[in-house]
Amino acid sequence: MSTTDPSAEQYLYDLADGDASMRPLLGGKGANVAEMMRLGVPVPDGFTVSTAASIAAMRTGGDWPDGLWDDTLAALQRLEERTGRALGSAQRPLLVSVRSGAVVSMPGMMDTILNLGVSDETVEALGAEADNPRFAWDSYRRFIQMYGEVVEEVPAYAYEDALSAMKRKRGMEHDTELSIEDLQALVEQFKEVSREHMGEELPEDPRDQLRRSIDAVFRSWKNPRAGVYRKAHGIPDDLGTAVNVMQMVFGNRGQTSATGVCFTRNPSTGAKELYGEFLVDAQGEDVVAGIRTPRDLAEMQEVLPEAFEELVDTMRRLEEHYGDMQDIEFTVEEGTLYLLQTRSGKRTAPAAFKIARDMVAEDVLTREQALRRIEPAQLDQLLHPAIDPEHDQTPVTKGLNASPGAAVGEVVFDAETAEQRGKAGDAVVLVRWETAPDDIAGVIVAQGVLTAHGGMTSHAAVVARGMGKPCVAGASGIKIDASAKQLSIGDHVLGEGDMITLDGSTGEVYVGALDLVPPQVNEDFEAVVGWADEVRRLGVRANADTGEDAAKAREFGAQGIGLCRTEHMFMAPDRLPAVRAMILAGDETERAAALEEILPMQQEDFAAIFTAMSGLPVTIRLLDPPLHEFLPDLVEQSLLVQRLELQGGEEAELRRERTLLAQVKKHTEMNPMLGTRGVRLALLYPEIARMQVRAIARAAFAVQDDGAEAVVEIMVPLVGYAEELRRMREVVEETLAEEFEAAGKDFPYTVGTMVELPRAALVADQIAEHADFFSFGTNDLTQTGIGISRDDAEGSFLAAYVDSDIVPANPFASIDVDGVGRLVQLGAQRGRSTKPDLKLGVCGEHGGDPASIGFFESIGLDYVSCSPYRVPIARFAAARAVLDAAEA
Ligand code: PEP
Ligand code: MG
Repeated sequence: MSTTDPSAEQYLYDLADGDASMRPLLGGKGANVAEMMRLGVPVPDGFTVSTAASIAAMRTGGDWPDGLWDDTLAALQRLEERTGRALGSAQRPLLVSVRSGAVVSMPGMMDTILNLGVSDETVEALGAEADNPRFAWDSYRRFIQMYGEVVEEVPAYAYEDALSAMKRKRGMEHDTELSIEDLQALVEQFKEVSREHMGEELPEDPRDQLRRSIDAVFRSWKNPRAGVYRKAHGIPDDLGTAVNVMQMVFGNRGQTSATGVCFTRNPSTGAKELYGEFLVDAQGEDVVAGIRTPRDLAEMQEVLPEAFEELVDTMRRLEEHYGDMQDIEFTVEEGTLYLLQTRSGKRTAPAAFKIARDMVAEDVLTREQALRRIEPAQLDQLLHPAIDPEHDQTPVTKGLNASPGAAVGEVVFDAETAEQRGKAGDAVVLVRWETAPDDIAGVIVAQGVLTAHGGMTSHAAVVARGMGKPCVAGASGIKIDASAKQLSIGDHVLGEGDMITLDGSTGEVYVGALDLVPPQVNEDFEAVVGWADEVRRLGVRANADTGEDAAKAREFGAQGIGLCRTEHMFMAPDRLPAVRAMILAGDETERAAALEEILPMQQEDFAAIFTAMSGLPVTIRLLDPPLHEFLPDLVEQSLLVQRLELQGGEEAELRRERTLLAQVKKHTEMNPMLGTRGVRLALLYPEIARMQVRAIARAAFAVQDDGAEAVVEIMVPLVGYAEELRRMREVVEETLAEEFEAAGKDFPYTVGTMVELPRAALVADQIAEHADFFSFGTNDLTQTGIGISRDDAEGSFLAAYVDSDIVPANPFASIDVDGVGRLVQLGAQRGRSTKPDLKLGVCGEHGGDPASIGFFESIGLDYVSCSPYRVPIARFAAARAVLDAAEA
């Protein structure tokens, strides 16, 4: 059993020598069949060519490593001895299946060859033994077809054409009607077809066929669909596949034979009930091909009672053994049951939660084990409406999955129409080049938002996510002609009122209205997320800007607000003018007037948030508007003025728009994201910060008077220098002191900063002198740390970078651990070197991303903060991070 080079990993394992723990070497299928054999479950005998062999072959560009073929022949010989049969024997022929077996299941992605061993030499013996020559010849023609297609790359149509011609000639509809003579003739024709396409004879020696088949399975690891699948599921490309060679058992040997599949629980509802189907006198591919309609598994009790009882008993044992719902393939050969495969069954999200909860109640699993059976993405599916998985539509384009959930509605091209139609009760989807603050009223009433431009952390996406509104952003494959009200996607042209469906969870866009299934948060969901709270260490807060969002976040289990973006409060159409006036004020008097108008609005907003979060911390960030997001577009404003000039419009209006244009010109920056925002704006115009701090203080007092408790944390954005924070802290403290004195009372508060610039991370020890807490703004830290625009990059080169594996994932969605992650780690370490108990959080969008949460857990941050709808996912992911770390 050992390879010729004893220092190398072993290439061949008999099934009897394996077990479930050897999955990395034997692949999922090989390890599970070996495990079943170990448990005494009936399985066909065989051996596994390990992943070590395919990896070695991959390394040399396909050449087999020394000793692999000799080891294979030796394993084959042992199998022949155990079964008392021989490959190619004209007396007692051995037939085998050759199947792929990846470490992580990739259903249907790789290749399989069945019936290997049937040949001119063996076909008669096979027929005689089964007392069924038709079966033998049918197996033979199936073998040539499968072998030719999979191993020798003969096109499938070549065999199908020959088969169809034969049926036509005989006036038959089904393969099953073909006679022995027809099948014998077909075998000859198939050989001829193979010869034509291969340019040589089909190899006759089954050992030669075996070698080529194993090689074909190795190669199938590299086929394009497997590559696409791996990318979609984050499976590494270098794992390689095992190859399982197992004795064939036949479900097509007459009325006491059968084949089928079953699940130990209902995979769509999770109910503990018999679930599966079978066919008498059939091979597995007949079930799949849909030629005959499979029967409900329950009926097997009457047809094959003994095998049925044994199957049901085995299903129970396997589920208990693995502690998970199993997906099983079986064959009954002349009354004897064989299991061909068992694996954890794929299930819908609601089923996953029900099964986890039931299995804990049944004492099959501990809560911690049950948490590991659920994927974070499944929480997403329950929290939002989703496209009915039964649909058969193809997406017409794909953008960024900027905010999860599905939306169906009529296309509208501007926020005003969206607002009118939405308020009238129509379902609309707002389609924009990119959204601006002006669009907010439309976004609020729309079912979802589709944009051609913008990234995962562009503020448009952030706003949509905060509202739990499905959004596909940066769909560069769409063309929008807003004035003609036309949306083109490939060959499809949609006008206003045409139906469209968005899947914000995948970024896919469909033409027409697909059926949706509503969110399904239920008791199972609540229970599972509750268990996560017992396990996790990281706190989970929410990013919320309104009382309503804060209340939602608290409902979802948020332990406070980690980020209140005060500028978002000004996106409402009735408020935008005031914030514009504040930014564009020509002098202090003008600014003071604008601030005067804003203060009561801010106070009201803060009071609503404090009330919703009573007793829990609320981090309010001082104003951080990249100016371009709040000002009219320079080009549009210029055109407007030009138009008014040409039309000779009203003098007053023209004057107003000209003044605005002049102000916009003055404030326009080449790089607004690196411009006058955050603490820079606050230091230039400290009166803005003073107004905000007053609003905070007055709101906190008002809330206290109503019997609630405001836990106030004030946060300064975009700090790069310790001196910036020192000065801002002074402004904050002075203003609070004034307010406390005026009120004759006070409240405790803390002042901290965002760490969202590389410099801030590098000098975090200095900044920490003036900070009570840090919150890592990983959106800007990604933008500035890598040097990529959060508004543009994903729509251009970054998508290509992700596609061609230059970067492993979109760094705005999942933290770039090696680069930006290291900045966070460094900032955390340096900050704590000054203040050992400095509180550390994350409030960038990564705070809701499970992979990133794993990283934040590993570097010892205190909490993550994410949009309200991601709070349950973050709670769950934080627990998984603890469990994964413990396992590692
Ligand atoms: C960040 O930069 O990560 C952050 C949370 O702030 P914003 O997204 O508002 O810039
Ligand atoms: Mg930021």
